[in-house]
Amino acid sequence: MIPLFKVPMSDEAPAAVAQVVGSGQIGQGAKVVEFEEALAARIGNPRVATVNSATSGLQLALRMVADDGDDGEVLSTPLTMEATNWAILANRLRIRWVDVDPATLNVDLDDLARKITPRTRAIMVVHFAGYPVDLDRLSTIVDEAEATFGFRIPVIEDCAHAWGATYRDRRIGTHGNISVFSFQAIKHLTTGDGGALALPTDELYQRARLLRWFGIDRTADRLRNPPDVPEWGFKFHMTDINASIGLANLAKADEALARHRDNAAFYDRELAGVPGLELTERAGDRRSSFWIYPMKVDDRDGFLKRMDEAGIMASNVHERNDLHTCVREYAALLPGLDRVAKRVVCVPVGWWVTDEQRSHIVDTIKEGW
Ligand SMILES: *Cc1c(COP(=O)(O)O)cnc(C)c1O
Repeated sequence: MIPLFKVPMSDEAPAAVAQVVGSGQIGQGAKVVEFEEALAARIGNPRVATVNSATSGLQLALRMVADDGDDGEVLSTPLTMEATNWAILANRLRIRWVDVDPATLNVDLDDLARKITPRTRAIMVVHFAGYPVDLDRLSTIVDEAEATFGFRIPVIEDCAHAWGATYRDRRIGTHGNISVFSFQAIKHLTTGDGGALALPTDELYQRARLLRWFGIDRTADRLRNPPDVPEWGFKFHMTDINASIGLANLAKADEALARHRDNAAFYDRELAGVPGLELTERAGDRRSSFWIYPMKVDDRDGFLKRMDEAGIMASNVHERNDLHTCVREYAALLPGLDRVAKRVVCVPVGWWVTDEQRSHIVDTIKEGW
């Protein structure tokens, strides 16, 4: 079977971990600082705070900007990993589903603009598959809402798929919003489990660093001058063990990203125009990181069966979130999502897919299903 996911682990990671594990300091320390500096340089944003997962990062981000559970709503996409949306519930906020744009599989920005109300506390977007949301257009929508309602709605970008993706020639993580990355096992860059927030202001950056560890200032002299905790925080920090894995894997993530893109470009060329199959949008002002390669196919069950017979793992990867029992009260009409939910399928595109394998995948698809 050609797998849909694989853990991108550098050969140097085991020794790096062994060094930390034997060092007598395994919690949050120098390796975390070193990893954050390396991430900041890669992303192009000096305000990077690591956490123990993207899920924690999303919960923390919402806590900082939308800490008002009183009837507050967060606009969000139903086509994502449940982590995106359960972070809203964890903050005792309500979810208001925004429809999905069938062309991009990202949120439909027209629908989003229509759904902003005085109760909107935040907007959560996902760069699905690593394909950036139109962030300039989103920023214009937020400007217009500010002019209408008199307050600026914060935007949180779930960048779990989008390591290395660019929008208007700048990397995701630098467009003025709170951006949350995942370093979970099968993402482009892994620390085992982990995540990071890239923040737009020094104030949010300092606050994130406090709230990821109980609200306690770790830089203070806690023995002689114990710091006050003005605002309680979580236990969401990253450890040096995880940071050492991340540091070892940074170069591997760059290589992986290039190969994901190369395989995707091959599929774009070879699969355009294949009957019963539709590719997603490619706008000239952004570059996907292609964590996955989503397409829309007729007769998805037949497609999956054919792939399985040919030794190719395929899947829709994420189920729509809006039909789960725990969010039934937020049910909404989502015609765009209805049009694509049963047609989305992803084939292997990652760094492990060889030239031979990607040709086999293309040939199998072209034979029909
Ligand atoms: C993986 C993923 C997450 C969760 O990341 P963790 O680091 O596992 O918490 C959130 N959102 C999306 C879209 C994901 O794919």
